[in-house]
Amino acid sequence: MSKSYSLGLIGYPLGHSLSPHMHRAALAALDLQGDYQLYEVEPATQGQAELEDLLEKMRSGKIHGLNVTIPHKQNVIQYLDELTPTAEAIGAVNTMFLENGSLVGDNTDAPAFLAEVKHLDLEESQKVALVLGAGGSARAVVYALISNGWQAKVLARKVEQAQEVVAHFGERVHAFVWDTDQFEELGAGCKLIVNTTPIGMFPNIDASPWPMDLPFPQGAAVYDLVYNPAITQFVRLAREQGLLAQTGAGMLVEQAALAFERWTGHNVPRDIMRQMFDKQLSLSEASPTWDSSS
Ligand code: NAP
Repeated sequence: MSKSYSLGLIGYPLGHSLSPHMHRAALAALDLQGDYQLYEVEPATQGQAELEDLLEKMRSGKIHGLNVTIPHKQNVIQYLDELTPTAEAIGAVNTMFLENGSLVGDNTDAPAFLAEVKHLDLEESQKVALVLGAGGSARAVVYALISNGWQAKVLARKVEQAQEVVAHFGERVHAFVWDTDQFEELGAGCKLIVNTTPIGMFPNIDASPWPMDLPFPQGAAVYDLVYNPAITQFVRLAREQGLLAQTGAGMLVEQAALAFERWTGHNVPRDIMRQMFDKQLSLSEASPTWDSSS
């Protein structure tokens, strides 16, 4: 009898997560048996027993793979035997699997973001990025950038948050307070501007992290981690000024595909997951929670 994969996502809340749709589409496309379920596990002590139970099911082979999202990306680490170098460097896990009896935590957000940057086909010189926001996803973004020769200017309204990112990742990262009057100066010469805040996410679709009336740095590209709506205000503004700009759908699909490969050993057709994502996003009137990453 062929293996039936038991996969899923731990987080809270999980609302209208799109992950089950993408992973089920991948299972079907590869003719694999199995399912991907949502496990809403409350934060802190309320959810601790349930979290431990799910991890025990992974150890015993009843569950074959789990994604992790807020609020558990850091606190699962204490239950794991090993971290991949990427998860270790970022200090957060979004994918777990069992390998030779060891429960391993990985982070597929960083390679997924990097794959998206490579698609933007940016010049290899003067790689300086402006990173808007300094939360969980900013860390994966900054790690991906500095591991590939970039410098990053990180902006946060609580500057200590950006300073923590600098303290974690070192001298290629610089912290600044979020002051839109300074965006022009800070953006000058940057090749990439990345939004890692939820600004512009459904239902606040008219908001943009970049001031509406401020020109973008010449020749920069824009990446918005927000993927709902399909075209964010930030991306629309950038495209209107002739910049190459993408929303976070590609990153969401890629991080899911990388996790799926870890669990099943099968290379997933990204277009199958992407088509399912686009279909479900267009069907969804409520905001899907950005799941599995950051
Ligand atoms: P997070 O850990 O809560 O961090 C959010 C960051 O944005 C914090 O620095 C926060 O600062 C800042 N921020 C929020 N509202 C702001 C505002 N109005 N002005 C300035 N800064 C603001 O969240 P996250 O996990 O990094 O996720 C952030 C976004 O990334 C979400 O919208 C999510 O959809 C998206 N995401 C997408 C993917 C993908 O695969 N495409 C993966 C991960 C995340 P404060 O602490 O001051 O609020």
